[in-house]
Amino acid sequence: GYKPNCKTKFGPLDDCDRIFQNLYGRHDWRLQGACERGDWHRTGDLLEQGPEWIMEQVSKSGLRGRGGAGFYAGRKWDFLRKAKSEKVPKVVIVNCAEGEPGTCKDREILRHEPHKLIEGMLLVGVAMGCGRAIVYVRNRFYNEACNLHFALEEAYHHGLVGESACGSGIKFDVMVQRGDRYLCGEETAMINCLMGKLGRPRRRPPYLTEKGYFGHPCLVINAESIAVVPSILRRGSEWWAGLGSSYNTGTKLYCLSGQVNNPCTVEEEMSIPLKDLIERHAGGVKGGWDNLAAVFPGGLSTPLLDPPTAAEVLMDFDCLVAAGSGLGCGAVIVMSKDSDPLAVMLRSIQFFEKHTCKQCTYCRDGAIWLPEIFARFVKGQTHPHEIDWTLAIADKIRNSKPICGLAYSQVSVAESLVRLFGPQIEERILKYAKGS
Ligand code: NAD
Repeated sequence: GYKPNCKTKFGPLDDCDRIFQNLYGRHDWRLQGACERGDWHRTGDLLEQGPEWIMEQVSKSGLRGRGGAGFYAGRKWDFLRKAKSEKVPKVVIVNCAEGEPGTCKDREILRHEPHKLIEGMLLVGVAMGCGRAIVYVRNRFYNEACNLHFALEEAYHHGLVGESACGSGIKFDVMVQRGDRYLCGEETAMINCLMGKLGRPRRRPPYLTEKGYFGHPCLVINAESIAVVPSILRRGSEWWAGLGSSYNTGTKLYCLSGQVNNPCTVEEEMSIPLKDLIERHAGGVKGGWDNLAAVFPGGLSTPLLDPPTAAEVLMDFDCLVAAGSGLGCGAVIVMSKDSDPLAVMLRSIQFFEKHTCKQCTYCRDGAIWLPEIFARFVKGQTHPHEIDWTLAIADKIRNSKPICGLAYSQVSVAESLVRLFGPQIEERILKYAKGS
């Protein structure tokens, strides 16, 4: 069994520590409501402290990227701050593509807390020496994009952004651009899409700080990572660092879905035990904890956890990697024993078949082969050697050094299927052989 290597008691988060006080849209999301909740409070004073101070606070807080990779924000943002750009201004790009199955946290920010995002863009942008931000919003988030546009108009109208943002004398503009492909959530594909090209990923390096948007050095940052910054600066980096565990600080938006009694999005402390999260906020697994078959802890791209591991693991980047999975974007998808796990895995692998960019040979071929094999597993209409083939294909994809993370997502689904449901596949093969 997996034994977590850190403290085991985290959460529940005190209400006063919550950043997203309007996560469920119970209050006014417009400027007046946002200001009543403390947004835009003396933002000019925060800007006056200077870019170094903002960067120092972010670094000290230990904030890690909330899109999935968990890269230390202070370190990543410093790459852009230090990037030399004499002729063209630097740009910060906000990732609201949010396509990972199971996640809907950035959507809630756009819907109910757009001013937190705009204020965050201004502070982060100025800290990195950027003159503007571009928000890439998933096309089907139509109503959410309307809220963002409305909030932006309010911010421009009141001089919070624009010619002299919050009276600081600093010019800061925000643009919104829409697009719609799962793949465009990958940062290099997103930049291509923003430049009017086919939204396909490319190899890094060069990183976006060297080869970015139309030659402008840039960074793509997840919406949640940006929206928490004003609160970190106001409440202090020590406050943020005091939540969660040593290398996984602060709060996080978790999305809980699948076979739970009360699917929801909730802000909780980092490192909260997965079981507590499901039982406290999602009303538990349908049919009780003993009915749990498996959990994706961080969206479809993260390897499945078996029930004993799920009962012990903490929701943070390091504990989940140690348990053989990952926190991803914090999208917990629960599978109970009432579902057909093989059918669920087939649907998962079909998702990647649809969305891979088909540039790398092994990933492209895997995207054709794996769903075919998985479909045979569901019916039992196959031979046990195909279980080994599945692992061999996954191995080939991993070792081929593919361009982007989508290839690894296929690998994770294929390996999870065999690791957790190998006996069920064999049972079905036997049953089919007896029946035919
Ligand atoms: P990554 O580890 O390759 O990169 C992390 C970030 O650090 C990137 O922005 C990268 O540009 C930056 N970086 C690293 N070294 C740098 C350097 N030297 N200079 C400048 N920048 C540098 O991870 P990734 O490919 O960005 O993301 C993968 C994750 O995304 C997966 O863990 C997956 O869970 C998650 N994901 C999320 C969604 C979603 O909808 N939120 C969808 C699919 C996947």
